Amino acid sequence: MPNTLLDVDLKNARVPQIHNRWHPDIPPIESVDIGDTWRCESVDWTGGQIGNNDSANDVRDVQLTQVHYLTGPVRVNGVKPGDLLVVDIADIGMLPDSEWGFTGIFDFNNGGGFLCDHYRDAGKMCWDFEGIYAKSRHIDNVKFAGLTHPGLIGCAPSMKLLEEWNRREAKLIATDPDRVPPLAAPPTTENAWMGQMKGSDAENAAKVAVRTVPGREHGGNCDIKNLSRGSKVYFPVYVDGANLSFGDIHFSQGDGEISFCGAIETAGWIDFHVDVIRGGMEKYGVKNPIFKPGPVEPRYSEYLVFEGISVDEQGDQHYMDATVAYRQACLNCIEYLKKFGYSGPQAYMLLSTAPVIGMVSGIVDIPNSVCTLALPTEIFDFDIRPNANGPTSKSRGKASVCS
Ligand code: ZN
Repeated sequence: MPNTLLDVDLKNARVPQIHNRWHPDIPPIESVDIGDTWRCESVDWTGGQIGNNDSANDVRDVQLTQVHYLTGPVRVNGVKPGDLLVVDIADIGMLPDSEWGFTGIFDFNNGGGFLCDHYRDAGKMCWDFEGIYAKSRHIDNVKFAGLTHPGLIGCAPSMKLLEEWNRREAKLIATDPDRVPPLAAPPTTENAWMGQMKGSDAENAAKVAVRTVPGREHGGNCDIKNLSRGSKVYFPVYVDGANLSFGDIHFSQGDGEISFCGAIETAGWIDFHVDVIRGGMEKYGVKNPIFKPGPVEPRYSEYLVFEGISVDEQGDQHYMDATVAYRQACLNCIEYLKKFGYSGPQAYMLLSTAPVIGMVSGIVDIPNSVCTLALPTEIFDFDIRPNANGPTSKSRGKASVCS
């Protein structure tokens, strides 16, 4: 078994081996050599704010300035800016005293989500793990194998890159500064946790340290479900030693992680292995990470595929808008699932967590982009396919919802 660089304390997430902002000066917690393999643990992305219970109040009241709780950074000796850091995700597992996960719908006024205009109240489902499978007391007749992955993994940005991120995101926020939910999350010192930085150094860095919410050129919170066991990621390196951090482990997630608190969120561990490609950014023209999915994935052979076009819920035509089109595909699938007795919040959270495949099918046929959402039919223990007799509707359990 690889050496464990950090084992987390689930009851005390704020240790110096954890940080929740990106900044080049956050000191490494450990250093490894090129060719090393090691294990690191991670708390869930909220640092334990969400409980395994039947109330969604903790999701409604979550402090989003605390997220994400990241383990790291780990310095890789000898790696230089311009290199590609080759990271193997050798294996991923759960912690013995934390074999459960949660999925939430954020309140419209505290986070929102992809369908926040339709689902404004906070909701929650908790999941139990049975080996590779997840099932939930909050949704009946559903069970699926996890495609487990880190929602968030990336190397530290350089100061120049950090400044560029702050510049472009501030410019976007300025177009509608009071928007709810906000257009982007600007730096804030509130709940900033700068790892091993202390005192005024930490305070000053936190003023400009970027939030971990979006994915960016270094990777970060990309929420790519296929970054699972056995995958290999080629990260652009922007600082000496690369300074790799990760967190936000997802037992399973659907493409888009649409409910935002959206995957099956959990604590866990990852075994990493690193190599380097010297000057790889220039050699391969890499600006954002590239990756090779692993060989271990759930095997689903049959899907129902829902289409969406870039015409919104009010009937307004948008020009080639893939976000509008994917939203329609999701809403169409949810309406379908409701005919079988699932509630809207249950269906919303199911699409966010089950291994659904989202695709851009057409992006040239003016004026409609077409996006599709493929739902594996085998995750249900009854026949979900359309037939001449119509759907069988019955109660399918109950997700926790605030109102
Ligand atoms: Zn997550």
